[in-house]
Amino acid sequence: MEILKLGVWELKELYKKKEIKPSEVVSLLFEEIYKKDKEIHSYLYINEKAIDEAKKIDEKIAKGEELRELEGIPISIKDNICTKGIPTTCASKILQNFIPPYDATCIEKLKSVGAIIIGKTNMDEFAFGSSTENSAFGPTKNPFDLDRVPGGSSGGSTAAVGANLCFASLGSDTGGSIRQPSAFCGVVGMKPTYGRVSRYGLVAFASSLDQIGPITKNVRDNAILLKIISGKDKYDSTSVELDVPEYTNFLENSLKDIRIGVPKEYFIEGIEKEIEEKIYKILKILESEGCKIEEISLPHTSYGIATYYIIATAEASSNLARFDGVKYGYRSKNYKNLMEMYMKTRGEGFGEEVKRRIILGTYVLSSGYYEAYYLKAQKVRTLIKNDFENAFKKLDIILTPTTPELPFKIGEKKDDPLKMYLSDIFTVNINLAGLPAINIPCGFSSNRLPIGIQIIGDYFKEEKILNLSYILERCIEKEVK
Ligand code: GLN
Repeated sequence: MEILKLGVWELKELYKKKEIKPSEVVSLLFEEIYKKDKEIHSYLYINEKAIDEAKKIDEKIAKGEELRELEGIPISIKDNICTKGIPTTCASKILQNFIPPYDATCIEKLKSVGAIIIGKTNMDEFAFGSSTENSAFGPTKNPFDLDRVPGGSSGGSTAAVGANLCFASLGSDTGGSIRQPSAFCGVVGMKPTYGRVSRYGLVAFASSLDQIGPITKNVRDNAILLKIISGKDKYDSTSVELDVPEYTNFLENSLKDIRIGVPKEYFIEGIEKEIEEKIYKILKILESEGCKIEEISLPHTSYGIATYYIIATAEASSNLARFDGVKYGYRSKNYKNLMEMYMKTRGEGFGEEVKRRIILGTYVLSSGYYEAYYLKAQKVRTLIKNDFENAFKKLDIILTPTTPELPFKIGEKKDDPLKMYLSDIFTVNINLAGLPAINIPCGFSSNRLPIGIQIIGDYFKEEKILNLSYILERCIEKEVK
């Protein structure tokens, strides 16, 4: 189904030339989803109304009306982003029947340029995880190997994009949840600078770390989507009042004299050999494009995982206090008094990993432990941030592997939370610092599993990341041909 392999801007070109109608594309997509997604399980909800929306756009095109930026482009959305009138479950039993009365700001923005929301994608419950196995509704599988995980927590979104079951998707990234599954599914996934994209309508996991970002088939699409969803929002006081550049204008800039740092702390023992080799190959390509490459040190790197899991669980335990069976979502049927209602609702509604994190988070915030854990973690967070700030005084880009490993087998780490937490060893520090970073697919391992690299930029310098990514994507394409 060649049409479904296209990216956003390529599909738009076909619409402009009237070579295919949006309703035909949506029908093709539905057919493909019903055929393939029984196995992959990237979707939790399919928006059947998409076909009516598409038909309206057919008429617009027939009348020769001007098409808005994403007019008629089917996009899927991670199920922790509120969509008006469409269930938003966070892959949790506690929100199973929740239908938001409003759209998240990023959804409003997508709709305002004509995008069609095709469905909601699977994820780890409340975005807690690295494999999408923590979904209350069953795991998603990696489209490149159905015995393996797609990564997480935005594994539904990256699997849907990777399997051509949508043209692009939105995910959320608190510690790596866009980049790590993008690496596992061979797609382009961007975590923007903290504050670049409004979090209004994103069900909060850890509010000081969460960002929404685009997951796409190519770099140009990523630049297009990022431009649309970015910007100050009066409903999110942490969104930043800064002009949003036209990112696509930067894609083809020369890379001559771009300074790239490669932190030695990211080449740890145990890293998959084929990933390491791929990085060296990419560095050679970039050198031949005129980049200046140097080894750097980010000395506090190894404290990242511990720091992240203290801060993220602390914030999560507080954010999840709202799910009490009173305001919305699931309520236990069987209780004698208010306290029991709270306890049973949360006991029955939350999955194992969610409970583990609430317990951990409550513990690190409790009196007597607050100073020892939470406050200490905040201090280390500053040290990690300073490492990056110092490095960016003389660099444009920092380049690392996105993950230390290839997609692992379903079930391999499910019962070992600590092992699972290490999947994010290369991504969490970027969230702690609040920096932007992208995953770029750069080929396959000998057993045909995708490999990704992470390109990190300075604050609000997404255009530099996209520029380098775009040129690299061209070089990698040439090499494959
Ligand atoms: N895998 C990490 C975690 O479990 C990151 C999740 C995320 O970015 N949402 O917390």
